[in-house]
Amino acid sequence: MIKVDQKKCVGCGRCTEICPGTFKLNASGKSEVVEQKNTDCAMKAADNCPVEAIHVDE
Ligand code: SF4
Repeated sequence: MIKVDQKKCVGCGRCTEICPGTFKLNASGKSEVVEQKNTDCAMKAADNCPVEAIHVDE
């Protein structure tokens, strides 16, 4: 399960660049999960998120 903490996300867009099939910025400028896939990529995005807003559980 991939989750984005909407309260922490600052909308930098890094996760959407790393995994465009998994994350997108929503109308509020925050990242949200579009599809529960590519867990490995989501973990990489989580490592690169500046505010640790992405959580991935296998
Ligand atoms: S990398 Fe983190 S802060 Fe940046 S858009 Fe994604 S979830 Fe939000």
